[in-house]
Amino acid sequence: HGLLWREHLLAANASQDGAEDRPFVVCYNVCKSYGGREVLRNLDLTVKRGEVVTIIGPSGSGKSTLLRLINHLEHVDWGDIKVDGRYVGYEKSGATMRPIRDLAKARADARIGMVFQHFNLFNHLTAVQNISEAPIQVYRQDPKKAHDLALSLLASVGLGRHADHLPHRLSGGQQQRVAIARALAISPRLMLFDEPTSALDPELVGEVLAVIRRLAEAGMTMIVVTHEIRFAREVADRVVFMDEGTIVEQGTPAEVLDNPKEERTQRFLRMVE
Ligand code: ADP
Ligand code: MG
Repeated sequence: HGLLWREHLLAANASQDGAEDRPFVVCYNVCKSYGGREVLRNLDLTVKRGEVVTIIGPSGSGKSTLLRLINHLEHVDWGDIKVDGRYVGYEKSGATMRPIRDLAKARADARIGMVFQHFNLFNHLTAVQNISEAPIQVYRQDPKKAHDLALSLLASVGLGRHADHLPHRLSGGQQQRVAIARALAISPRLMLFDEPTSALDPELVGEVLAVIRRLAEAGMTMIVVTHEIRFAREVADRVVFMDEGTIVEQGTPAEVLDNPKEERTQRFLRMVE
């Protein structure tokens, strides 16, 4: 399935692109089903280096599934995803491509940082240990160096004084900032955020968005799934509206949020704004 496309795209990319302006993420005709139910249908999306793309759309439209596929947490059923010119989830085997058996290793090699709605911190580890865990265990960094890096990342998200706290002693906003620092510790080339503020009390949303905003300003390539329309308007280079497993509409924040062309986009925005 799709093997020829892969070879074809690979050749096309090799011959035409200088690495610099090659899209950093390319999703081409991506399809994914669960138990016979189509969750992503023929989805195409490209993200350039340094671009901030926000994805909005109703619950169940496939946003999280798309992020999981990009981050090697699952395989596509059909179509291709490439990150920085490399197929996600597939490897060359002779003349064809086959699913990568060791997705965990592929994920580590890809250096994609992901932040989830429910933080997903290790509850038995302190803030600083949460951050240095992957650098030490996965990337085999020197523990002292990893610890120092973790401390400076904690300081950069405003939590320098909370290094030795366990997650349960931190507010939701603080936990999410630890989670962002943890994602940054692997020197990500791409950051994926899946509704990073949806589980937070309203008064804690701002401190998390501020950290994400700074990353955007620093030129990080990011895909942010969010219901924060104002935030999307502010930080996004491009807004993508998804519904029922496809991209209905995309464009600048002004195009999609202020002048949506599609009826479905208009209806969604009336509901969330
Ligand atoms: P969104 O993030 O936009 O709310 P999701 O990608 O989480 O949407 O889910 C899209 C659809 O796929 C939903 O109907 C959801 O129930 C289904 N789904 C997602 N993950 C799985 C899974 N692992 N197994 C079965 N169904 C799933
Ligand atoms: Mg989701």
